[in-house]
Order: sequence, then structure tokens, then C-alpha cells
Amino acid sequence: MTFREDFAALRRIGVDPEGGWSRPAFSPADIEAHEWFLARGREAGLAARYDAFGNAILRLEGETGRPAILIGSHLDTVTRGGAYDGAIGVLAGLEVLSRLHAGGHRGAPVEAIAFRDEEGRFGPFTGSRAMAGLHDAEALTRAKAADGTTLAGAVAAAGFTPDNAPRDWSRVGAYLELHIEQGPVLEQAGVDLGIVTAIAGQERMSIRFVGQADHAGTAPMDQRRDAFAGAARFAEAFRRMIRAEKGGDLRGTIGVVKVKPNLGNVIPDEVTMGLEIRGTSAGLLQGVATRIGVLAEEIAAAEGLQLRLRRLYSDAPVPMADGPRTALEDAAADLGVAPARLPSGANHDAGIVGRIVPAAMLFVPSRGGRSHCPEEYTDESQIELAIDVLFKAVCVLRRADGAGLAEPGGLQARPR
Ligand SMILES: [Zn+2]
Repeated sequence: MTFREDFAALRRIGVDPEGGWSRPAFSPADIEAHEWFLARGREAGLAARYDAFGNAILRLEGETGRPAILIGSHLDTVTRGGAYDGAIGVLAGLEVLSRLHAGGHRGAPVEAIAFRDEEGRFGPFTGSRAMAGLHDAEALTRAKAADGTTLAGAVAAAGFTPDNAPRDWSRVGAYLELHIEQGPVLEQAGVDLGIVTAIAGQERMSIRFVGQADHAGTAPMDQRRDAFAGAARFAEAFRRMIRAEKGGDLRGTIGVVKVKPNLGNVIPDEVTMGLEIRGTSAGLLQGVATRIGVLAEEIAAAEGLQLRLRRLYSDAPVPMADGPRTALEDAAADLGVAPARLPSGANHDAGIVGRIVPAAMLFVPSRGGRSHCPEEYTDESQIELAIDVLFKAVCVLRRADGAGLAEPGGLQARPR
């Protein structure tokens, strides 16, 4: 079986009658996709198993005593998502292991992993975080999907345990992931391949302006404490602040706005905004987060409002590690490919695993920069080229002295 045949088979699983693919974590389609993956691995002569959380793992044994090289991504999708996000990375792992096995190559053990719930049906990266042992086990038992399905119920129904399932990471040498870019950079540059420099970190916060509700028709314009007026001023100033950071890769978004009481004839007394900033510089993220707080305070004071600011979530950037990244660079050069180097604004399983072991990522172009939609598309020849680069890099890493691998990118920073 070739990558194209495997891809054709996988994309028959979870086709949504309303368009695209729906394989939400631990749904019947998701379970079928993981079963298919392990069955294909067995057919190719590989050892196939699930870990206690339900992450699916294929393994090609190698020389004893050598730390394993892992290739991973995910098979779950968002609702009515695309066929490529995650899936091609898992198929790339299957293809690389099949080639190594068929070719009788020797070296360190190699694994292909399909992590569960990358798309966060039950929370961010629940599968790779379980394998990394990063979960608060008690919080995990309370995790729920938007439709009310509990993680505990869904995982148990699939035959697994809703708990951390940490592996022995001292027996892992490196982690590699091939993924679609999910942005327009590679296509616009006319480049077939990208090598990721770092995965962006993020800061999420909630900002609430509290004023006073009054009659919209009678309260004079200069005597109002209008919470929405403060929010509007803040939103514009926030955007200017983010845009002023030229040359970096900083992104800032206000994705949540809740207005109270949200009535046409009442001056809003409360507006709550949820915002996030992302970037690959930890220092810049922290600095901007602090300045956002100062900005919100100034605007609250100017508008006669009270401010409640909460930092909700903080996740440090994860730089890709020199060892596996150089192996990808060299493999691309050997194959005559000139890749672009770019940061990843989206997080990936590599952003979780890369905190523990040296990790690197390859990107292939996304047509029109589209993803998480049925229109998601990458030319199959570009995916095959990326698989060739991955294969070559894995061959080198399998033979490499473990000491030649760099330290992981973001060990000092764990998600809260
Ligand atoms: Zn993905």
C-alpha cells in the first residue's frame, strides 16, 4: 500500500453528510479510524497497540538500548473539518515505518503514533498530554465536550482509562511531526516544504469593564459609565498595540465579547472580553501581557469604569530542537528541496511532546491557507515529498548517537 492508497482508505471514515469530515475524539468514526490505523500497521508487519488512554502506537523494533524515534500526529477532526489536518502526519508515520520494515533498515526503534483528541473536544491535547503525564487527573474526570459528553464516559466506553498514561520518556530520542501549515505562508512563497522554527506560546485573559446601567434615552452623554464604550476603546487600542510589534510573529485576538444586559434601551453596565495573544518570543508575550493590563486600567479610569482582569492560561513557546530540526534540514537539502523556515502559530502535539524530548516539525502548504473546513487541501505530490524528507531524516536519526540530539525546547514551561 502506498500513501495515496492509505489516504484514500482513511478518508472514507467519518465523511459528514453535511460536508467534510467529522471524527470527533472517541466518536464511532474516530474509533474506527484508530482501529483502521492499527490494523494497517499489523498488515505491514509492525507491532500495534493502544496505551491506557487510547493513543494508538505502531512500533518497529530496533537495536536494543537505543532510544526510540517517534513520529506522531492525530486522526480526530473538528466538526465538518478537512481530510488532511493530522491525518497526513499519522499516515506519514505509517509510511516511514512500512518502508523501514520492508527495506530491512537497522538502527533505533521507531514508532508512529496517533494521539487522541488533538482538536480538543474534551480539552486541549488530551491525548498527548496524557502520554506526557501533564494532566491533573481529577480535572480530567470532570472534562466535558460541548455536547455534554463526559471524557470519562467516552474514554471508558472505548475501553480505556481517563487518566495520565505516561510512557518512559528516557527511552525516546526525538519526536517528529508532519502537518499541514493551516496558513498561507508556504503557498504565497511558492515553496513546497516548511521547517518549523518554534511553536507559538499563548496568553489568554479575561477583561471585564463594569459601569452602571441607566436609561439609554435619558442619561446625558457626558454623565454615563458605559461599559461598552470602554470595551470599544480597549479593542481598538489593543489592536494598535499588537500591530505596532513589527517584524515579530505576535498575534492578538478578542474572540469573546459578552454585553450585559444586552438590551437596546439600556446602557451596558458590564462587558466581558476574552482575548488571547500568541507569539514565539516568551519575553515579548509576557511584556505585552503586562502592557495589556496597564492599557485596560488606563481606559477604565478614563471612562469611570471598574476593571476586573484575570490571566486565564499561559503556555510558553516551544522552540524546535536543533538535533531533529537539522536532520530535517539536511534531508531536504539531500533531496534538492529548499524549505522555508517559519513559526507555527497553531499548537500541535509536537508542542506538548517537545517540552519533554527534542522535537521538530515539517509543514506542507495549505491551499488558500484554509483548514478546519472541507476545502482544506494539499497537493499529494507535496505530501509525498515531505514524507521522503521525513524518511531520510528518520534514517539519519536512527543511526545517530543519542548524545547528538539537542535538549527539548520548552521543558521549563509547562501548561497550567
Ligand atoms: Zn492538526
